[in-house]
Amino acid sequence: MSEILEAVRAGASGEVLAGTPLPTTTRAVVVRREEQNIFEGLASRDKDPRRSLHLQEVTLPEMAPDEALVVVMASSINFNTVWTSIFEPISTFTFLDRLGRESYWGARHALDYQVIGSDAAGVVVRIGSAVRGWKVGDEVTVHCNHVDDQDPSSHDDSMRASNQRIWGFETNFGGLADITLVKANQLMPKPAHLTWEEAAVNALCNSTAYRMLVSRNGAPVTQGDRVLIWGASGGIGSFAVQHVLNSGAIPIGVVSNAAKVETLRELGCEHVIDRQERDYRFWKDEHTQDESEWRRLGKDIRALVGDDPDIVFEHPGRATMGASVFVAKRAGTIVTCAATSGYMIEYDNRHLWMKLKTIKGSHFSNYREAWAANQTLIDAKVVPPLSAVFPLERTGEAAYEVHHNRHEGKIGILCAAEREGLGVSDAATRAHVGERRLTIFRRHDRGG
Ligand code: NAP
Repeated sequence: MSEILEAVRAGASGEVLAGTPLPTTTRAVVVRREEQNIFEGLASRDKDPRRSLHLQEVTLPEMAPDEALVVVMASSINFNTVWTSIFEPISTFTFLDRLGRESYWGARHALDYQVIGSDAAGVVVRIGSAVRGWKVGDEVTVHCNHVDDQDPSSHDDSMRASNQRIWGFETNFGGLADITLVKANQLMPKPAHLTWEEAAVNALCNSTAYRMLVSRNGAPVTQGDRVLIWGASGGIGSFAVQHVLNSGAIPIGVVSNAAKVETLRELGCEHVIDRQERDYRFWKDEHTQDESEWRRLGKDIRALVGDDPDIVFEHPGRATMGASVFVAKRAGTIVTCAATSGYMIEYDNRHLWMKLKTIKGSHFSNYREAWAANQTLIDAKVVPPLSAVFPLERTGEAAYEVHHNRHEGKIGILCAAEREGLGVSDAATRAHVGERRLTIFRRHDRGG
C-alpha cells in the first residue's frame, strides 16, 4: 500500500499529507476500449458488468491548476455505472474522445481505459495552484457536475453549460478508485456524523432528486402537494421521498415488493403502492398501451391520498411514462431525469394539453443545488439510503445487483477505507439521529 493511503488511514494532518509522496499509480475500476463491443447482440439484461469491469493499476494523471487529488475512502454504484459497464446506450469512450479534443487538459481523458464512478467520500491530498477554499487534509464528498468555468454558458445555471459533463461517466478518473482527480468546484464538506461509506452514496442521487423536487430549476414541491414517486426505495427515489416529506408534502411511493414497502414506511412514507402486487399492465404488447390500466393506477392513488398527484417523479421511462402523464393532476407536472426501461417514450398527448400538464426535463444539479442537498445530510434532515457495502474488488457484482434491480437504496463501495464504520467525527449528531434511522435500508444488519 502507498504511503499516502497509509497516512490518510492513520488520520495524518494536512501538513503531513502534503509532505507525503504520492504513488505514480492507483487501483481503479475500469472499462476497456478494446472490450466495448463484447456484448454486441445480447439483450440488455444479459450484458454482465462482472465481465466488463476490471480492477487494475492505472497511472495517476497530471493535475490541472483548478483540480484536486482525493484519496477515496468510499464510493458508490450509480445507475450510470451500469450504463457504462454494459456500453449502453452508447460506449462512454465516445464522451472521452470528445473531451480529449477540447483542450490540453481534456486530452488526458481520452485513454483506452476509463476509470468510472460518480460518487466519492475521502480526503484531499493535493490541490492545484489555482484552488481556493480547500486544503490538503479536508474531508470531503464529491459531486459529479464537471463544468468548465471559463465557458460563458456555464454562468447562469451550470447544468445549462454546453460542455457540462458527468464526472466518472463522461470523463475519466472517476471515484471507483483509491485516488481520484476532481475539479475543486466538485468538492463539498463531508457530513461529519456519517461513516465513509454512508457519506459516499449520496451526492449523485440526492442532488438529482433535490433539483427535481426542491430547486426552482425543477418542479418544486409545495406543502400539501401529492407527489407520486416511482422506484421510491431506489437510488433517486429514496431521496425524493425524504425531500417531499421535508417539504410538508405527501409522497406516494411505488415499489415492487413487500420488503421495500416496509422500508418506505420506516422512512416515514405512509402511502405506498406495491406495483407487483397490483400487477399493473400498462402495456398490452410491445406497441400498445392500456388506458384502463392507467386509470386503475389513478384510482389507487386517489384511494390513498384523496386526489391526483400534483407532481410525478418519473424515471423508469417507456414502461411508465404513459401512466405518469395520465395520472398527473390537471395542470400538474411530470418531472423526469431518466428512462431506465427505454427512452423512446409514448404517451397520449390529449391528456397533456387538454389538462394543461407539463413535462419537465431535469438532469443532475448545479454546484449550488448539490451543496444545498449536501447540507440536508449535514443537518441530518436526510439520511443516506445505504443498503449494502462491497469492496472495490467486487464492484462488478455490486453493479450486477443494481442492473437487475436486486438492491434497495444505494450500494456503497469501500475503496481506501480498511473497513466499514470509520470516518465519524461528530458522534453527538450521530447519536441524536440514531443508529436505527441511519440504517433503515440495512435491514439485514438489523436482523430484518
Ligand atoms: P435504482 O436504484 O435502480 O432505482 C430505480 C428504481 O426504479 C428501482 O428501484 C425500481 O423500483 C424502479 N423501476 C425500475 N424499472 C421499473 C419499471 N419498469 N417500472 C416501474 N419502476 C421501475 O436507480 P436510480 O439510481 O434510482 O436511477 C434511476 C434512473 O435514473 C436510472 O436510469 C439512472 O441512470 C437515472 N438517473 C439520472 C440522473 C440524472 O442526473 N439525469 C441521476 C441519477 C439517476 P421498484 O422495482 O421497487 O418499483
